[in-house]
Amino acid sequence: MNSLFLKRSWIEVDLEKVKNNYIEYSKTLPYNSEIIPVLKADAYGHGAVQVAKILQSLGVRFFAVSNLCEAIELRDAGITEEILILGYTPAYLTEKLSEYNIIQTIVSEEHAKELSKYSNFNVRYHFAIDTGMNRIGLNANDLDNCENVIRKFSKLLNIDGLFTHFCVADSSEQDDIIFTNLQIKKFKDLVERVKDLDINVIHCSNSAGGLYYANDIAKNINKKLFVRLGISLYGLSPNQSVPLPNTFKPALTWKTIVTTVRTVKKGDFVGYGRTYIAESERKIATLSVGYADGYSRSLSNTGFVLINGHRAKIVGRICMDQTTVDVTDIPNVKMGDIATLTGQDGNLNISADDISKLTNTINYEVLCGISKRVQRIYT
Ligand SMILES: *Cc1c(COP(=O)(O)O)cnc(C)c1O
Repeated sequence: MNSLFLKRSWIEVDLEKVKNNYIEYSKTLPYNSEIIPVLKADAYGHGAVQVAKILQSLGVRFFAVSNLCEAIELRDAGITEEILILGYTPAYLTEKLSEYNIIQTIVSEEHAKELSKYSNFNVRYHFAIDTGMNRIGLNANDLDNCENVIRKFSKLLNIDGLFTHFCVADSSEQDDIIFTNLQIKKFKDLVERVKDLDINVIHCSNSAGGLYYANDIAKNINKKLFVRLGISLYGLSPNQSVPLPNTFKPALTWKTIVTTVRTVKKGDFVGYGRTYIAESERKIATLSVGYADGYSRSLSNTGFVLINGHRAKIVGRICMDQTTVDVTDIPNVKMGDIATLTGQDGNLNISADDISKLTNTINYEVLCGISKRVQRIYT
């Protein structure tokens, strides 16, 4: 069944572009930096195992995921490199962390306490440090406490890393730049206080941090620079108003097909709720994609797709499995024609950024939202 290509709604992932983006990103980093590709959410919809395998071939030694199931999926596929879980795992799963040799983030002192009850020196941990995001980690506003907690638990647990996370590293606003530098400063102060513990892996950058702060970080934190590279590995910018250099290429295109075309008369309605009324005779094409595929219902009467090198506007509401578009001005549209939801068709392009602007979200959510039902094809 899995090998049955439905030609319904599918994405085409160009792994050469993932490779290209990895190499282009590496070139922007100081010498001796290391990239930790972030493969959470099935590699932002691109397929974690396939992406991991292509990156293995480039010598990547370390991956990050969001949870234990994602980590085990990689292990079961034969990925033997280091894997770090960036989010919470309950302590009762310590045995699994050990069995699969997965590195776990500690999200709080309370978490550390619980984990140390299951103490198992086979499992390595990275302490998360909160330098201003107020999501996970020890609060770096109280460096004494941070230091004490790390020292205490480094006797009970195998602490192999420390990391923090930036919340506005993608922004070019002056106060955001000041904020990020403050985050770097707090992290650096903590790293210095615990230098004697010889914690191996010290990391703070996401895509944006590596793009805009690599030198500040390398200068301040006198350790090898690690970047947890997510969105830009997939060819997209962490900030939609600041494009990446054009050497980066989006690795994914999302397609569907026309299943039927009909003519509606002036005054006819299209779709649930009768939200679209034809002002004149129109040609309507139906596509085999809907919100259950992750094609946002907020694109109803707003978004567009590409068919035969032309734009076709979405008319009426997006349904669970189907979408209707106006193809009046596109010649010869017929059953089986390909409609591009994101990607290039002729001279036209729709990016995940375009969709996210129309649906009031970010490119990350568009990618991660493409559902499991959408088939993945690798080129
Ligand atoms: C998702 C995530 C990243 C990757 O962020 P990008 O902006 O996609 O590069 C890095 N670090 C942590 C902790 C994350 O959760």
